[in-house]
Amino acid sequence: MKFLYKILLCTIIIMAAAFGISGYFFVNFVFESALEREVAQALDGSSILRFAFETAALNIPTKYNVLQDAAVRQIGARLESSGQNTGRCLRLSDEGRNSIYTSEGFSEDTALLQQIGPETKVWTIASHGDRYYIHTGIVVNALDRALYLETLEDVTEVFEERSMGFSVYRRVTLAMLACSGMVMLFICVWLTKPIRLLANATKRMAAGEYGYRAKRISNDELGQLTTDFNSMANVLEETIHELKEEVRAREDFIAAFAHELKTPLTAIIGYADMLRSRKLDEEKHFLSANYIYTEGKRLENMSFRLMDIIVTRREVLEVQPIEAKTLFEYLRGVFAENKEQKIRMSVQSGTVYGEPNLLKSVLVNLMDNACKASREGGMVKLSGKRMENGYAFEVRDYGVGIPEEELKKVTEAFYMVDKSRSRSRNGAGLGLALCVEILRLHGSELDIRSKVGEGTCVSFVISGHGPGAGGKGAGAEAADVEAAAAAGAEPGA
Ligand code: ATP
Ligand code: MG
Repeated sequence: MKFLYKILLCTIIIMAAAFGISGYFFVNFVFESALEREVAQALDGSSILRFAFETAALNIPTKYNVLQDAAVRQIGARLESSGQNTGRCLRLSDEGRNSIYTSEGFSEDTALLQQIGPETKVWTIASHGDRYYIHTGIVVNALDRALYLETLEDVTEVFEERSMGFSVYRRVTLAMLACSGMVMLFICVWLTKPIRLLANATKRMAAGEYGYRAKRISNDELGQLTTDFNSMANVLEETIHELKEEVRAREDFIAAFAHELKTPLTAIIGYADMLRSRKLDEEKHFLSANYIYTEGKRLENMSFRLMDIIVTRREVLEVQPIEAKTLFEYLRGVFAENKEQKIRMSVQSGTVYGEPNLLKSVLVNLMDNACKASREGGMVKLSGKRMENGYAFEVRDYGVGIPEEELKKVTEAFYMVDKSRSRSRNGAGLGLALCVEILRLHGSELDIRSKVGEGTCVSFVISGHGPGAGGKGAGAEAADVEAAAAAGAEPGA
């Protein structure tokens, strides 16, 4: 059953019970009051009759000063005829409680007669057929006799009024229930509207309309519930969007991975097949073997990089202070053999907090990219600067640059702006993806600015404070060091 009908049904049941009980008590109260009045009147009437009887008995001439039964009957008949139009009946009994005079239609029942005492008036309600009477009893002392006088007053009307009262009240109650039921129905529809709106929103969201929101139409608890529901829906929508993005990124990753595997494998299989199926001259034999070696190396390089990314994602960083100088010295060693580009290093002394091997890997990757993008004899600058809250590294080249629309994509795994150029330089498109992961662990991120034909500048800032330290910044104590190097070997060799 709908909530709306439940409220309606409960309200109608409560109203019916309230009307019914109050009506019953009201009609009964009116009846009791009327009956009380009738009883009082009947008792008064019986006292008056006693007095009339006693007076009449005194006036009847008697032989031995004893009231004869015949005289009693005569008086009884007279008293009965005097109250004919009131519908009153009476019975007169002697000392042995045997009837002397009984009106026509008077009850045969003598239970009340037995209860009459010398000084008491008794009464009861008696019914004969469908009529109701007040039966009273009293002692009458006439001359030397103590007789019993009983009366029957017809009070059927009072009982009929009660039945009529119940019947009228029933009809009024039904009419009121019908009217208030209609009003309650409208009130329930209005009260439960926010619930219906919420239910509708839930259904539509379950059907995939994640952007659908319930309209708030009240300022009560249901209104608050609607607002909370909508906030929850916002969070859910965002989470679903993020999950979808993640799934899409994974699918892209797998597709790119499969593609990157295919290219070197095709070359390896092709050259290996040539070597095993034909006898080649020495030069061709060497060339084929060299291709297999180079492509194999590329695969190995790719698998190492992938391993690095996976490991980095899982790693919990063990931060330690590193002198920036040591990082630059390491890079100078790595690129000492590079003769193709002029490498300039400008370094301010300072301390950074991080994992030395991971930071070295980031800098080598960025320098490697800068060298690969530069023409022969081009300049690559690596600089380190103390900042207020850390230490900034910057790698700048004056090479091919990256188109603006590609800037966001170059950090995705396997993404290469110029695939043939990158592959010819043994690139797998994983270097920047690895850098992003490492910097994320260090609470930092890459800032890449580039212009096609003018060059690229990649920078990032590493914290100068250890965990929980309120240090004074990156190694402000040391003097600046300028270093310059020019080398001619293959980058990253
Ligand atoms: P890997 O680093 O895995 O050996 P890669 O250098 O091609 O291969 P990334 O370092 O991830 O891969 O770089 C992604 C792509 O971004 C490169 O292929 C290149 O097209 C572009 N790119 C990166 N750095 C520069 C730069 N300094 N100048 C121009 N293009 C760059
Ligand atoms: Mg690279």
